[in-house]
Amino acid sequence: MPLRRLNHDAYKVGWICALEIEQIAAMEMLDEEHEPLPQPENDTNIYSLGSINDHNVIIVGLPSMGNCSAATVVTQMKMTFPNLKYGLLVGIGGGVPIETDAGMIRLGHVVVSKPTGIHPGVIQYNHGDAMLGILERGGALAPPPIVLLNAAREMAVRRHRREYDPIWENTKRIPTGRRALRRFGFPGADKDHLYQPHYEHQRKAMSCQESGCDPRQRIERQIDEEDDSYIVVHRGTIASGGLVIADAQKRDSLAQEHGLLCFEMEAAGVLNNLPCLVIRGICDYCDTHKNDVWHGFAAAAAAAYARQLFFHLPIQEAQR
Ligand SMILES: [Zn+2]
Repeated sequence: MPLRRLNHDAYKVGWICALEIEQIAAMEMLDEEHEPLPQPENDTNIYSLGSINDHNVIIVGLPSMGNCSAATVVTQMKMTFPNLKYGLLVGIGGGVPIETDAGMIRLGHVVVSKPTGIHPGVIQYNHGDAMLGILERGGALAPPPIVLLNAAREMAVRRHRREYDPIWENTKRIPTGRRALRRFGFPGADKDHLYQPHYEHQRKAMSCQESGCDPRQRIERQIDEEDDSYIVVHRGTIASGGLVIADAQKRDSLAQEHGLLCFEMEAAGVLNNLPCLVIRGICDYCDTHKNDVWHGFAAAAAAAYARQLFFHLPIQEAQR
């Protein structure tokens, strides 16, 4: 079947991914793909166009991780799609293992930016600050657009009242039986280990098991059987910076001081240019034990959440 071709004006929502794994998950969430459109020569982005529940979406990847790259991509996208209103920044992030209204933050959960207290949803840190353990708000980052906050809220309300979890159902859109997509499958709660903050990973570039990390240093948490068919969502403050946090004690002191739920690396670059909701699937705990086991599923969970949002956004007549 030939792909539909719309014009640039028809696209209002950008879906931004930093990693390839995040972009694959994003593509699997589209109801329909659209024909690519010509773009100005100075726009070096590659766009994938499509729709979800009648909302037209531009999916775009970043050439490299980090805030600078994100800022450039968004600037170009705004030039090419003049009606671009807001974005979803969707992918993986490092979680802070604390308790929220939704329970303990664990691997495979989703953290979504939401203004709380004095923070606008995302706060920025930079290399030097993080090294010193100081996290400052680097200027005012725009809060998420009201319409997306409303959609997130509406979705939370409706999910409580349903028998099954539509976000979990969305993760099943990715056919994990295929070899190339296997890594998007749910690893299982027994693959989620949290170690005492002071206990360092034993040997680099090896799994905890291979390197002999002591299971007695793990923090035992209850396994919720229902997590096998439910994506837990936490909403609150996300920290965005140019440095990967791989230090549990730094994670905890920053998180405590600023009420953080998650760390990631692109939001600050995007938010300076486009109002966005930041959606992060939790793939590790920002400690020295971090590994790739949960990357695929965490990316799938974040994309699944993003897809579901489109069922709670108002549909404008002109889009039909
Ligand atoms: Zn380890």
